[in-house]
Amino acid sequence: MNPRGDSSLDKFLLSGLEDIESRGLMRKLSALDGPQQTRVTRNGRELWNFTSNDYLGLATQTAMKAADKAECERSGFGTGASRLICGTLAAHEELDSTIAEFKQTPAALSFSSGYAAAMGTIPALCGAGDVIILDKLSHACLVDAARLSGAVLRVFPHNDLCKLESHLKWARAKHPGAKILVVAESIYSMDGDRAPLREMVELKERHGAWLFLDEAHAVGVIGQQGRGLADEVGVAARVEIQMGTLGKAMGSHGAYIAGSRALRNYLINRARSFIFSTSPPAPVAAASRKAIEIVASPEGESLRARLWKNLQHLQSLLPINAPASAILPVLIGNETAAVETSARLLEKGFLVPAIRFPTVAKGSARLRITLTSAHTASGIESLAEALQECAA
Ligand SMILES: *Cc1c(COP(=O)(O)O)cnc(C)c1O
Repeated sequence: MNPRGDSSLDKFLLSGLEDIESRGLMRKLSALDGPQQTRVTRNGRELWNFTSNDYLGLATQTAMKAADKAECERSGFGTGASRLICGTLAAHEELDSTIAEFKQTPAALSFSSGYAAAMGTIPALCGAGDVIILDKLSHACLVDAARLSGAVLRVFPHNDLCKLESHLKWARAKHPGAKILVVAESIYSMDGDRAPLREMVELKERHGAWLFLDEAHAVGVIGQQGRGLADEVGVAARVEIQMGTLGKAMGSHGAYIAGSRALRNYLINRARSFIFSTSPPAPVAAASRKAIEIVASPEGESLRARLWKNLQHLQSLLPINAPASAILPVLIGNETAAVETSARLLEKGFLVPAIRFPTVAKGSARLRITLTSAHTASGIESLAEALQECAA
């Protein structure tokens, strides 16, 4: 042990950090001084927050806090064990059935995060000898989960149906007995665009594959009662494995897999991130349940209407296409240029981070703007003005 920082480990770490810095890729943490909402305070400065995934402003909502407090009184905080030992409390079972009802699936299983849901589910379904076909822009947790599974991986260019079909044909021909799993998102987290879901569902059915669909950025925002894109395009019942997160539009924390009863029971027995991890605090589960209740209610409907109105307002002020989701990327390209633009926006009081490698491909660095239902028209107008000044 050498606490002074000159151990061989630290030498390795410091040279790695130097390398990251020299490529303009250094990332640092920066805490907010108060809650996460449209106006935030950081290092004593008040800023417009245009980067949160709390699309409906639920993270700080009074009803959510009340649900959390009441559950804390009923069940305490920590759960003391994993779900299969003694860590399943009423709040977890209530959340699971609320998710199933919301998603209109026979069953659902909640996880402690989206990352854990993907890492537990994909390797439980596929292994060596199987084939997983992923969209190129799939979230890191989907890629990591596919790798962990040991299945043969094939990647198709983003939303490229022809290449998806040729991979499906190849998999059927080369691995006749294999399970084939297509993995995709419905709304892509860094591009904000939509998957051609109806066509993808038709393709996976024609070739006898299953579809794992990550709706992280669609639940709450798109579809009837905010059920997601599969619901909106009318294919939800044909998507075998429907993943969603509870930490974005739901304003809480955690994630779920919705599908058949057999899928839930199988994951309870085979998803390692579920089995070998302490269950989430009951108040978190209760807050998630409250969030789903709000999202599916007329109040949720009006929050969604406000969000879409905000998105249209920003679109009317900038030379951009009609938004497909609450995520609006402004492509810059060069990593350093993106960081500099983001820094100029910060000087003007706008929190709009640069997204760079390894989150997106090298040379496709961007500003990632997200809007929420809680943004005001004047806030959106000031952002548009600042963006035009910083781009000029
Ligand atoms: C955020 C995100 C996840 C991870 O969910 P967490 O609950 O934050 O772990 C998974 N998939 C996509 C597409 C995401 O954007």
